[in-house]
Amino acid sequence: MPNRKTYFVDVILPVPIHKAFTYRVPFELNEFIKEGVRVVVPFGRSKLQTGIITKIHENVPDYQVKYVESVLDEQPIITGKQFKLWSWMAEYYMAALGDVMNAALPSNFKLGSETKVVLHPDTEVNPDFLTDREYQIYEALQIQKELDLKEISEIVGIKTIQPIIKDLMEKRVIMTLEDVQEKYTPKTQIFIELTSEYQQEDKLKALMDAYSTDKKKSKQLDVILLLIQIGGPSQSALRSELTDKGASVSALNTLEKNGVLVAQRREVSRIELEDAKISQSKTLSESQATALKEIKDLYTEKDIVLLHGVTGSGKTEIYVELIKEQLAQGKQVLFLLPEIALTTQLIQRLRKYFGAKVGVYHSRFNQNERIEIWNALLQNDTSQFQIILGARSSVFLPFRNLGLVIVDEEHESSFKQYDPSPRYNGRDVGIVLASMFKAKVLLGSATPAVETYYNATTGKYGLVSLKERFGNLMLPEILTANIKQEKKSKTMQSDFSSFLMDAMKEALDNREQIILFQNRRGYNPVWACEVCGWNPLCKNCDVSLTYHMHNNILKCHYCSYYEPPIGTCPKCNSNRLKMIGFGTEKIEDELTILFPGVRVERLDFDTTRKKNSYERILEDFDKGAIDILVGTQMVTKGLDFDNVSLVGILDAELLLKRPDFRANERSYQLMSQVAGRAGRKNKRGKVIIQTYDPDNWVIRHVIEHDYEGLYKHELIERKNYFYPPYYKLINITLKHRNPIELDVMSFELAEMMQQKFGTRVLGPEFPIVKRIQNYYLKSIRLKIEREASQSKVKEVLQQLIDDFYTKPRNKSIRLVIDVDPL
Ligand code: ADP
Ligand code: ZN
Ligand code: ZN
Repeated sequence: MPNRKTYFVDVILPVPIHKAFTYRVPFELNEFIKEGVRVVVPFGRSKLQTGIITKIHENVPDYQVKYVESVLDEQPIITGKQFKLWSWMAEYYMAALGDVMNAALPSNFKLGSETKVVLHPDTEVNPDFLTDREYQIYEALQIQKELDLKEISEIVGIKTIQPIIKDLMEKRVIMTLEDVQEKYTPKTQIFIELTSEYQQEDKLKALMDAYSTDKKKSKQLDVILLLIQIGGPSQSALRSELTDKGASVSALNTLEKNGVLVAQRREVSRIELEDAKISQSKTLSESQATALKEIKDLYTEKDIVLLHGVTGSGKTEIYVELIKEQLAQGKQVLFLLPEIALTTQLIQRLRKYFGAKVGVYHSRFNQNERIEIWNALLQNDTSQFQIILGARSSVFLPFRNLGLVIVDEEHESSFKQYDPSPRYNGRDVGIVLASMFKAKVLLGSATPAVETYYNATTGKYGLVSLKERFGNLMLPEILTANIKQEKKSKTMQSDFSSFLMDAMKEALDNREQIILFQNRRGYNPVWACEVCGWNPLCKNCDVSLTYHMHNNILKCHYCSYYEPPIGTCPKCNSNRLKMIGFGTEKIEDELTILFPGVRVERLDFDTTRKKNSYERILEDFDKGAIDILVGTQMVTKGLDFDNVSLVGILDAELLLKRPDFRANERSYQLMSQVAGRAGRKNKRGKVIIQTYDPDNWVIRHVIEHDYEGLYKHELIERKNYFYPPYYKLINITLKHRNPIELDVMSFELAEMMQQKFGTRVLGPEFPIVKRIQNYYLKSIRLKIEREASQSKVKEVLQQLIDDFYTKPRNKSIRLVIDVDPL
């Protein structure tokens, strides 16, 4: 006898609308309804959407509601805590719950009317295991290649096809198109094997005989013997395994050069990586052990501790000890890192200690791998993935028993998601997530965010400092090159001061490596007319185009528009078009002219877009196959190289002069981080900062490695100008295609806000870039005292925005709300 009670469910749908959607449950589905399961519901005129049930109730809505079409899951796919976190995020970041859900769920879980499916590229399908309807879909996809859910629904002649799609995905017959297109980055490793010539036994024997009589070749002979021992004559061995077992790197290189061995890069599955041998973690140094003890002591009274440790102080080993303790108690650990710091280097370091217990959750991994981790956590399978290493989106995983959240490089701006909504900060969400589990939090940084340091020095967080590098290595020596003077005395060689040039020559003579940091990619940011100052702008955005030499185009960094460079000025007809400023590509080009024969490589957004190229460049640099690495921010992140003796920061002003209240903080962070790459093992590194103003106070603090000094100085400015940590900011950006309408409407909204918040409202004003992709922009900023109730403020603001939108003419404007902008 089915339960004939009338139930309603509230459902989150993946749409940017700030309200709950209520549906009626048909009786026959009553027993399948649960919180946290997915349902298919009608939405709009003819669409079907997949949403998640958040509440089951019997409150009859006062409007006509539609019926739930079907239920997709037997068990909830999200936990109660996840839903709580989503709700917190929606409220705190003023985002729609549907947007939060969209960010949180792997795309496989989202089956909407727009979803397109294709055949799974690598499974053999046995039609015997398919139902008739499934087979119909399978057959149709063989002809049509891709179909959306509506088309599929027409093919099989039923409306609710999501459950069938879900089954087909589970049987690995189909995949969503999104998943297939997602850039899937297979892991690769270098294998070494004998060239085909020496795979012939007689040739190999002759060679070995010759080598065994030549003393100079004994190391090379050792390598060959080791290779045969590991893999046999026709097999290959991992290059890293050879070197781990004592093969000489130079002997390996020579053998490659002489055509005895070849190196090949091959894909390896993640499983093989997980097979890496487990080894003991390192014994902590005295100061590391003290820091660890201080952290643990602080945890008796505080939930959050900041570990302020200089670069190379060995923070990771301290994290490892804390992780071990959590594992021993059967708890989970979330280790958050900025995307870019998630290198193979670090992953392997942790896998070495924890093996398959480490799960990596990463946007560069494909959906199947992400779903694998999601499901393992959801099913509370503690045999694997007890430690999640991931970028900001890993806060969305279904943790069950979280004991510790580590946020390394907590100051990093890439923890913040800009677009799309929710515009959240992974560090801050990580803290909230931890509090839901009463878990501890460790924030780690050599250059903490000003807000974090404020919290740590005012008692909200505990503070532990680690002031020396591991092994008592010296912090690098930081010097300045005075560009102004060198320009006057004409000692500059293109963009390099003589001071930096001399240091580079010395380093290259010593066969040491160099890192050059320039926070701008492309060849020349601006291509301008020398006579009248005209410069080409993007057609869609209000920004200058950047010259990219390798493909000879002028490109917009905001919308990817590009055009060929122009030789003649359209305004004054002169052909003297000049370049202003300089980017990474131009530096790379100049270096090859100034230092012929020197191997230069560039690490920036453009060179790392291809699969694996980021890791490949770093690996080559690590191997010594690159002499000078030129790069943007990417070179500043936790890389650990032994042979870098010199770091050059090419244009300090480019950082310092940014029109942004965080310019000083960011400049300090970037300069210190990149400086930290110099001189790790056997030699004190040298850093040269090129600047017009060597007395600048931020630079002085970088030179003295004086974070506290910088912090104190900066805090005064923040207080005087009403910025964080004393004030919390909310940015509202208004977008419209028509600049006049935009003007009127943004003025109206600002006025409404002023009535409530008074002088805490700034603007409307033009942001730095006034137009992006043909939308004109205006921004309004709200500055609220730290002590005020933020949730009350947001409630008032939301009400105000809702009122604003009740006017029909205002409906054409787009609003972007950014809480805690960086
Ligand atoms: P941080 O993250 O603080 O910049 P790392 O954790 O990367 O520093 O450590 C810097 C270097 O010192 C690494 O090469 C690491 O392997 C080494 N190291 C740190 N602690 C120890 C230890 N206790 N024993 C041996 N080597 C260590
Ligand atoms: Zn001109
Ligand atoms: Zn553009």
